[in-house]
Amino acid sequence: MKKEPVKTRELDPQVRTGNFQEVVLGYSETEALAEASRCLQCAKPLCVGGCPVNIEIKKFIYYIQRKDYARAYFTIRERNSFASICGRVCPAEYQCRKACVLNKKQQPFASSEAINIHFLERFAGDYGKDNRLAVASEKEEKFSEFKVAVVGSGPAGLCCAGELARKGIKVDIFESLHKLGGVLRYGIPPFRLPAEVLDFEINLLKQLGVNFTPNFLVGKAKSIKELFADGYSCIFLGLGAGVPSFLGIKGENLNNIYSVNEFLTRVNLMSAYKFPEFHTPVNIGKHVLVVGGGNTAMDAARVALRLQKLKGLVPDTTVVYRRTETEMPARRLEIEHAKEEGIKFEFLTQPKEFEGDEQGFVNKLSCLRAKLGEADASGRRRPVILEGSDFSLDCDLCVIAVGLKANQILIKETAELKINQDSDIVVDPETMESSIPGVYAGGDIVGGEGTIIEAMGMAKIAARAIIKKLAPV
Ligand SMILES: Cc1cc2nc3c(=O)[nH]c(=O)nc-3n(C[C@H](O)[C@H](O)[C@H](O)COP(=O)(O)OP(=O)(O)OC[C@H]3O[C@@H](n4cnc5c(N)ncnc54)[C@H](O)[C@@H]3O)c2cc1C
Repeated sequence: MKKEPVKTRELDPQVRTGNFQEVVLGYSETEALAEASRCLQCAKPLCVGGCPVNIEIKKFIYYIQRKDYARAYFTIRERNSFASICGRVCPAEYQCRKACVLNKKQQPFASSEAINIHFLERFAGDYGKDNRLAVASEKEEKFSEFKVAVVGSGPAGLCCAGELARKGIKVDIFESLHKLGGVLRYGIPPFRLPAEVLDFEINLLKQLGVNFTPNFLVGKAKSIKELFADGYSCIFLGLGAGVPSFLGIKGENLNNIYSVNEFLTRVNLMSAYKFPEFHTPVNIGKHVLVVGGGNTAMDAARVALRLQKLKGLVPDTTVVYRRTETEMPARRLEIEHAKEEGIKFEFLTQPKEFEGDEQGFVNKLSCLRAKLGEADASGRRRPVILEGSDFSLDCDLCVIAVGLKANQILIKETAELKINQDSDIVVDPETMESSIPGVYAGGDIVGGEGTIIEAMGMAKIAARAIIKKLAPV
């Protein structure tokens, strides 16, 4: 009999939309063993190449099959220190799972659906976390005479810091916000990534000796030159992409139209979801529109719907997207979850103009219908406007989630830093070194909006190059 994929347990949509608790509950041991038993242990494991940090997927699943969960955890940790985070939020369907051989062949023993690698990674990661397996003894004392400054505490900065600290290098992370974690903290809501999972990884870095300085905006509080003058041998820039894009349409400055960053930051970082315990204002309305089709749009819509319920309103949140569901860049799981939770979708819809009341508050979005045309540079079919198809949607809160651009403050203050047409930092891809010798960069500030594991992949390349520069063999 063919082995069927094992789904994870999830909170019921009716229950979970009334709170911010984690939705996906993860595998029990029995479930993990059943899912791991589907892995064919291929001679050439294509999944490894699908992972931006090349986790030895075949090997860690082998250890799960053998019930040696500690080895499974350490196998992942050799390549990725944040198994519990990535197991929760990696878009595995576009990475390791896409390469899984089970997608391609009819197999005699396993159903032809990729192994749920991310859920197994989460299982092993949580096993290591819950049993406190990773300890500061991982640290070598080789390079303790050097110190490196890391700017930004998102996944790129945290990953680079960990790689360097494990070699004994003294690392100081400077973060402009008052809390650590970058998008992992202010962007991704706690029902996808609980804060304690992130806190655990940050505490491990503290145990490794990494020093964190929040509320410190490099570029204003100190320049790159001043950091070098303070004795840092190298600097890593993990600045991220936090500058929101807008639609550029009439009425976009009306009240109650938020950029996705502002909306999610108010809710996640400034705890507006802990209403009424926290008083951070979010003017959640009766009719919420979220414009966009990526992870940020799904997060904003799911947050908005929860807030509507918490404030006693009838949930009414709609995602407005100019293409169809097939072209949506969001993780499939998030789209499914959004639909289960009652989020509505207006596909093939192009926003045209916002309208407002006499007090300047938004109350309507005029739109045009579209159809799909030829594929554009991204490979997705382009929306073509249908003239005369005007219609409008009521809204008293709108979140614009149509893309994010590179954080600019440090770049603008550092004339020698070479940037490209998108204002991303230009680096040598072999080393991630920028146009300033000794200054490295990685994550969204280099590649534009990407994924957590891609940011970590770049940070690891930079860390290797920094180590080589500090102590060439
Ligand atoms: C809402 C949302 C949901 C997402 N969901 C997913 C998902 O499910 N899966 C996935 O893989 N990816 C997801 N992504 C993308 C992913 O989060 C990013 O690709 C990743 O966080 C990039 O990491 P980073 O370290 O480069 O930048 P960031 O996470 O943006 O961190 C950069 C940090 O640098 C700080 N900083 C910037 N400038 C300075 C300065 N001058 N001085 C000091 N500090 C500074 C910022 O405050 C920030 O904390 C999501 C993104 C968003 C916005």
